Amino acid sequence: MIFQKVKGIFIDGRKDMCKKNPLTEYLSPNKVYIPLIQRSSILKAEVKVGDYVKLGQLVASVEKPFNVRVHASVSGNVTAIKKVWHASGKMVDAVEIENDFKNELADTIKEEKNVDKLTREQLIEKMELAGLTGLGGAGFPTHVKYKTKLKIDAVIINAVECEPYLTCDYHFITTYAEKLLKGATYMARAAGASKAYVAYKINYKEIREAMMPYLKDYPNVEVFPVKNVYPSGWEKFVVEQVTKKTYKNLPAEAGVIVNNSATAIIYADIVEKNIPQIVRPMVVTGEGVKVPHAFVVPIGTKVSDLIEICGGYVDGLDPLKYNYIAGGPMTGKAILIDDLVVSDTLGSVVIKPIIEGFHPECLGCGKCADVCPAYLTPTEIKKAFERKDLKLLGDLNANKCVECGLCSYVCPSHVEITEAVGKGKAYLLKGGK
Ligand code: SF4
Ligand code: SF4
Repeated sequence: MIFQKVKGIFIDGRKDMCKKNPLTEYLSPNKVYIPLIQRSSILKAEVKVGDYVKLGQLVASVEKPFNVRVHASVSGNVTAIKKVWHASGKMVDAVEIENDFKNELADTIKEEKNVDKLTREQLIEKMELAGLTGLGGAGFPTHVKYKTKLKIDAVIINAVECEPYLTCDYHFITTYAEKLLKGATYMARAAGASKAYVAYKINYKEIREAMMPYLKDYPNVEVFPVKNVYPSGWEKFVVEQVTKKTYKNLPAEAGVIVNNSATAIIYADIVEKNIPQIVRPMVVTGEGVKVPHAFVVPIGTKVSDLIEICGGYVDGLDPLKYNYIAGGPMTGKAILIDDLVVSDTLGSVVIKPIIEGFHPECLGCGKCADVCPAYLTPTEIKKAFERKDLKLLGDLNANKCVECGLCSYVCPSHVEITEAVGKGKAYLLKGGK
């Protein structure tokens, strides 16, 4: 067990820069680029250049190791299969679709007449056919979690979003509160569970207030406040706070399945209208953009289009003068340019001006060790890795780093200590190779 008890710290969320602006629905870009990759699975295109595709039509799939399916997020012609920048930091193949703005629907999209009679198996099959994945950043196929043989007592909808800057879930839930409760209820049925919890950060009263008018109609859903600390939204912490149980590998061992709130909202439309996963919430924020915004966008939208809607860069200068982080500043990944596409694993881009000529040095203050939820000593792990001392890395439990990013966040000298610990962990896990 990594965590003896919840250990987290309060951090300045910096969410206000985005929170004050309402959710913007940007549903009709001129072109979308549907990535032919999901996590490490390479997908096979089911369409070719010149084909006409309807909104929601299957565009690519792969059966192994998990059945993964992606769908057209606009209607129009397939104009190319080309390389695009992806949240993984790499260029990947994508299907380019030119939007005809007709929103012609795939034949499979139709209202579900027998929602109340759907069996557990049918509810799981809907997840699978719709290509539903974890929209909190993991991108794991949702149906796989629900096919567990373990007994599930409850589903937890994770609406905590504890990373600084990000307001994806906040905006999506406060706009679609009832859909969240519906999605949570359907997920509980799909799991064979009697209860669903919506876990939210206690200081986000707006999330609770948005759900309050509907809660009486969803008696098996309970809204559950968690601590206002980082990393309170982390799966293991959420499970521990809600159930008072912990687990080794998967939440199902503690009798729960955890889904992100955006996944639950999208699932409500999958169950009731058979609309596959073709949109997602997306935040473009940080000190580098003029007006940070939360969006709902078709998967495959270019982030550069969204930056334009945000009014562009703060000083209108060269985009190469900024740092881009795909995901949040704690656990996200640095990317090179703004020309990447929105995928199921990309829910935010944080943009910050680059500070020229800055070379951080460790002050030996020990703050990184104080906050580490896995009780590690990050600076010692860094030094052990620099000396390639495999035994010491093992003694220091480098493998227990969960890459939460807290050590870098609190460092007064801005040392990229998380990255160094991550390298030490990888070196240890690969046996020094
Ligand atoms: S918080 Fe930063 S400066 Fe302080 S000991 Fe850790 S790495 Fe060094
Ligand atoms: S990223 Fe840093 S704070 Fe987080 S678990 Fe790893 S060493 Fe600890």
